Amino acid sequence: MADHAHIVIGGGISGLASAHYSLHAGVDTLLLEASERPGGCIHSSHFEALNDFWVEAGGHTCFNSYGNLLGIMEQIDLLKLTTAKEKKSYKLWSKGKRSGILSALHIFELITALPGLFRVKKAGKTVAEYYGKVLGQKNYQALFSPAFRSVVCQDADDFPAEALFRKKPRRKDVLRAFTMPSGLADIPSAIATQPGFNVRYGAQVHRISAANQGEGIRVELQDGTHLSCERVTLAVPPDVARTLLSEAVPEAAKAIAGVGVAEIDTLVLVFERSKLKVEEIAGLISVDGAFLSAVSRDFLPDDRYRGFAFHFPGGQLSETEREQAACRAIDASVDDIVAKAQVHNRLPALRRDHMERIQALDSALASGQIAVTGNWFLGVSIEDCVTRSRSEHERLFGAVPTAPVAQ
Ligand SMILES: Cc1cc2nc3c(=O)[nH]c(=O)nc-3n(C[C@H](O)[C@H](O)[C@H](O)COP(=O)(O)OP(=O)(O)OC[C@H]3O[C@@H](n4cnc5c(N)ncnc54)[C@H](O)[C@@H]3O)c2cc1C
Repeated sequence: MADHAHIVIGGGISGLASAHYSLHAGVDTLLLEASERPGGCIHSSHFEALNDFWVEAGGHTCFNSYGNLLGIMEQIDLLKLTTAKEKKSYKLWSKGKRSGILSALHIFELITALPGLFRVKKAGKTVAEYYGKVLGQKNYQALFSPAFRSVVCQDADDFPAEALFRKKPRRKDVLRAFTMPSGLADIPSAIATQPGFNVRYGAQVHRISAANQGEGIRVELQDGTHLSCERVTLAVPPDVARTLLSEAVPEAAKAIAGVGVAEIDTLVLVFERSKLKVEEIAGLISVDGAFLSAVSRDFLPDDRYRGFAFHFPGGQLSETEREQAACRAIDASVDDIVAKAQVHNRLPALRRDHMERIQALDSALASGQIAVTGNWFLGVSIEDCVTRSRSEHERLFGAVPTAPVAQ
């Protein structure tokens, strides 16, 4: 007998959604997460000493088009806590100055290029090829390439155009863009603490393989222990998935051999409101700065503090250099930092042929008991993760029930 019917590896939103769906389908499920908290890239940094002021160090906004995520939130009674974000503008950071986004726009070129939106197909094109055509080359170079880079925290020019901004239906009964009272991390935390949800933290998986007769799949942890299960869902970044699949489904591992990962060093800084002169902003899109982008906490203003998360390319600058670069961009003094946090984020680096790789992966997985989900299938947004988790759940366990199941 296997230890569990289903083991989910990885406790970001993809793994949490997978485990949520199987829990609600009545399947005995265990989630194994390497770190000490749920949420992965959804990470609201809290500062207890500052009245529990928080800043988003990763994902910061959910939308009313996130239908599958909203479905899960509804099941655990979380929709009532969605919190409106105040509208603030993003600014460009270029040549050592902040400026309005419109200042970089070539209006005439935009007007002449825009009809391409109805003609040019996204499929098979990179972001640079597609958006260069429908927005104009000058606009793309001056504004949209840096803006897309700031969305995916890495150069987005070679991303498949299909993986950026998929149109999804909106729910009119939900706030258009929302956060949660203590940050988006309220969502993973509520999923992981619902009754019956079985999760183990500090559980890094390093190998999966066929188990003994009748025991299904063997899952080995870094600490030397192992578990067995009938079905496994991998909800980890592509490089980790490749390693874990290499023995269990070598064809699947081969299919995703070239999928890269961007490493991102995120620096969260908090200041006394009274010490900062910079106007309230949604964040910064960096054109030529040392950082890729910055997101502020100004969308939910606090009387006393202001906070920012600056995202830097991984491993390139020292902590001091990062602090200096960040403070320069918001006219702040390093001496005025009242709290800070360092967070490491990882996002997939997708390329033009990505959709073919996913097709090959899906064919290799088709008749087996292993599912793979994450932010590297439909796109990187939180909803893309949940949507993939749902379809993989349905492949292994059948359709997701629409009404909440009593606990
Ligand atoms: C800075 C930033 C801003 C973003 N902003 C937004 C936004 O505003 N809106 C939006 O929709 N999306 C946003 N995103 C994207 C979105 O947050 C992510 O794509 C999504 O949260 C990824 O979820 P995931 O579960 O697929 O992967 P991850 O969050 O990366 O989770 C993977 C988990 O697997 C665990 N793990 C890894 N290896 C192992 C192992 N061997 N054993 C066990 N566990 C393991 C990791 O510890 C991690 O918890 C943002 C992302 C970043 C980085």
